[in-house]
This record gives sequence, structure tokens and C-alpha cells, in this order.
Amino acid sequence: MQYETLKAILKKNGSSLTHTRRYIFDLLWGQGPQSMAVLISRAGDKVDRATIYRTIELFERLGIVTRINVGWKYRVELSDVFTDHHHHLHCTNCGKVIDLPSNPMLETMIDTLSAKADFSPRGHTLEIFGLCPACSRA
Ligand SMILES: [Zn+2]
Ligand SMILES: [Zn+2]
Repeated sequence: MQYETLKAILKKNGSSLTHTRRYIFDLLWGQGPQSMAVLISRAGDKVDRATIYRTIELFERLGIVTRINVGWKYRVELSDVFTDHHHHLHCTNCGKVIDLPSNPMLETMIDTLSAKADFSPRGHTLEIFGLCPACSRA
């Protein structure tokens, strides 16, 4: 089913679902945010670095992938189209990324506040920085 959605998004933009694009999509599927270095190492010799960068760029432009900025670095993961909407907790000490437990009140609150500012929200990102349990104990 996820391939159908992926195919539809690509098609709408005049692109097709090639083996390589499907392979890179598979590397993202079911995973949390990954750095490009991790993605490249997981791809092994199957896809070269330039192709991965180009594909991620295309995926990002088409809303398939979300880029998460962590300081001057970034990680990528599949967008809300392919995952349940969620937020992240970033450990600034060890780099671990944990999903924030979802809470409908938080989501409603963001929309309500946006509406109060006469704004029609289409989406949002929210990244939280701090120390994970292990690092805060250390
Ligand atoms: Zn940590
Ligand atoms: Zn949210």
C-alpha cells in the first residue's frame, strides 16, 4: 500500500518509481530519523552516495521525506504521509532520538493557537532538545 502512495506522489510530479527510489524508500520505512551517513552506510554498495543525496532531495521536495534540523546537522525520515504524525526528543549529549508520546491535546492546542493568529495551519514540526534518561543520570 505504501508503494502505491509513493508511486502516486512521484507520478503526479512526472517522476516514476524506479528500483533505486524504492530501495531508498525501504531504507526509510519504519525507521526513526536517520543521518545521511547512516543512510549511506545502510545502502552499502547498492546505491552510490550522489544518487542517495539526489533521491532524498527529490523525496523532500515532493513531501515524501521530512528533514529534521539538529543544530547544523540534519536527519531525514518519512513524512506524515507515511508515518503517524509525531514529534522527537533529541539528546544533545549522545545524539539519541526518541519519539515524544503522542497527545491529541498538544495537536489541538497548536491548531487553536494558529487559528487565533488568523492562520490556517497545514502542518508543523516540533523538535525537543535535552538529555535522554541515560545521559541525565550520568
Ligand atoms: Zn543521551
Ligand atoms: Zn504535532
